[in-house]
Amino acid sequence: MPIQPHGCTCFIISSRMLRQLADEAEPAERHLLLDQCEMSAYLRGQRSVAPTAMGAAVPGEKRRTVYDARHKATLPGKLMRGEGSMAVADVSVNQAYDGAGTTYDFFREVLKRNSIDNKGLRIDSTVHYQTRFNNAFWNGQQMVYGDGDGKLFLGFTHALEVIAHELTHGVTQHAVPGGLVYENQSGALNESISDVFGSLVKQWKLKQSAEQADWLIGSGILAASVGKALRSMADPGNKKLTWSGDEQPKTMAGYVDGGDVHTNSGIPNHAFYAAAIALKGNAWDKAGPIWYKALGLLTSTATFADMAKATAQAAVLLYGADSAEQHAVQAAWKVVGVV
Ligand SMILES: [Zn+2]
Repeated sequence: MPIQPHGCTCFIISSRMLRQLADEAEPAERHLLLDQCEMSAYLRGQRSVAPTAMGAAVPGEKRRTVYDARHKATLPGKLMRGEGSMAVADVSVNQAYDGAGTTYDFFREVLKRNSIDNKGLRIDSTVHYQTRFNNAFWNGQQMVYGDGDGKLFLGFTHALEVIAHELTHGVTQHAVPGGLVYENQSGALNESISDVFGSLVKQWKLKQSAEQADWLIGSGILAASVGKALRSMADPGNKKLTWSGDEQPKTMAGYVDGGDVHTNSGIPNHAFYAAAIALKGNAWDKAGPIWYKALGLLTSTATFADMAKATAQAAVLLYGADSAEQHAVQAAWKVVGVV
């Protein structure tokens, strides 16, 4: 099995956010947050590899497994649920199982993609990773969820868009030729693509049009004292909608040189939002398929401008040259100052 050169260990919470919360925390809490920051850096530094095929992939079949790390760092942990097995007493296990199922169904039904690798790859998730772990991540092979410390973070499996965000990192690793390098603009694009499909899965599940959707990422995972959500695609950087340290730019005018991948992702996030609103109706009907088709037109080091070009090209492939869809996509990238 060839190694994917740019599989990432990709987190939902940025180190910047953990550090900022640490600055404001009580000493005991501060140590925990800073330890977890270091742990994230360590995990990111490890080479992530493409998933090894476990069992024969059956086209069109959903195959999920959920493990319990039992508060250790060893993956995957103890097997708790396999495909088709009954719900268990552990809520996190069931949420990870159900969320992975909804995300699989979305990709299958809306985008005709068969799982992470489009070949029916088994979807593995581990819950209860470490103790009071304030993050969730994709490690190149599987999804991993901490419980949160219960003070700042309330857990990660009950937000469907967080589960779909993590699973989409796996999709990106396979759908973009060579994967997307997890730094600079390609890294911010990687993050944005996970937010885009994370939000789309939630909208699809809730049957909300682009106008009705909240466009929030991570709503409900933060304690009220921290905020309401991690990011807003409708209005990146709007602290009232998210949390006090939200510094996401909405347009290129606010682009942060050397910024975290979770910071500059606000720009392509808002471009998707603008396109979806302009195209009206459900965001998964037109904007979603255009963004999805664009993934195959990118290279590992794609910039925002490359994504603007790829989505316009994808709109032409799907709806024709000079179509209203092509113009809506191009106008959206103009809104955020990329073109
Ligand atoms: Zn991510």
